[in-house]
Amino acid sequence: MRHTPESRPIDLHVHTTASDGDMTPRECVAAAARVGLAAIAITDHDTMAGNDEAAAAGQRLGVEVVPGVEISCSHDRVTVHLLGYYPEPENPRLASVLAELRSRREERNPRIVARLAELGCAVDYREVVAVAGGGVVGRPHIAAVMVRRGYVRSLDEAFDRYLARGAAAYVERVKPTVSGALAALRAARAIPVLAHPGILGAGDFGDVERLVRELAAMGLRGLEAYYNAHDAALTSKLLALAAREGLVVAGGTDFHGSRKPDIALGRGLGNMAVPYEILEGLKRERARL
Ligand code: AMP
Ligand code: FE
Ligand code: FE
Ligand code: ZN
Repeated sequence: MRHTPESRPIDLHVHTTASDGDMTPRECVAAAARVGLAAIAITDHDTMAGNDEAAAAGQRLGVEVVPGVEISCSHDRVTVHLLGYYPEPENPRLASVLAELRSRREERNPRIVARLAELGCAVDYREVVAVAGGGVVGRPHIAAVMVRRGYVRSLDEAFDRYLARGAAAYVERVKPTVSGALAALRAARAIPVLAHPGILGAGDFGDVERLVRELAAMGLRGLEAYYNAHDAALTSKLLALAAREGLVVAGGTDFHGSRKPDIALGRGLGNMAVPYEILEGLKRERARL
């Protein structure tokens, strides 16, 4: 019997209520089924807590679910996000890096709220935690409460005026180094991929290229070439860079539900369609780890 090649697209960058998405893992999988995706990867910030629920829903709904995680790291002066695909769920080294990240958030969030209070935006931190609904608490949840309280009209305004790096209530949080996070992902047999190389704030493409080479020497295995903010020209350059450096390619929308209403699951700003072959490439890489 001939095997029909998978023609439905995939989305390998999805946030759920386990971090700052506003759809549960189950709802994300159901949405993927509805829009005709063959596979999605769950890549919540600093946690793997949504992976099991998504996997179970995937079984029921006929969507392939790739377990994953997204880790914020610091490198020189830029923040680098690493995606890790297929991490071992119980690996103690990765678990401890993620637990440390979450505890640093718990130090930071109340400090942001305190600064907001000084700036005339009284936000009850308990309300922020409630909005996060048990997931990892981040700035988007603080922003949501600010909208609800009428201090700003939109999440974007909350970030622009108060929460973005350099804005009035911004507080830095301690992040792992890229080399530490790469080592932890490798220890957990995950494929480490540089997330959204086009929005690193690293400078021009030459700077991205230098960063990618540096990270590849530390154990990076892939590049997220397809991304909502990457235009066709940048995507081609990233595909060529990945090929030159022997890196695997990933692609996803960075879906966050209605917290980022312009980004549609599987389609990004409108016309993304990451082909299933990309996932086959990741699986070949996994077999080599
Ligand atoms: P945190 O994890 O607390 O550092 O918050 C970072 C998250 O905030 C990112 O993962 C995005 O989902 C979201 N975010 C960052 N910048 C903006 C922005 N300008 N507008 C809306 N959401 C943003
Ligand atoms: Fe996010
Ligand atoms: Fe990211
Ligand atoms: Zn993301």
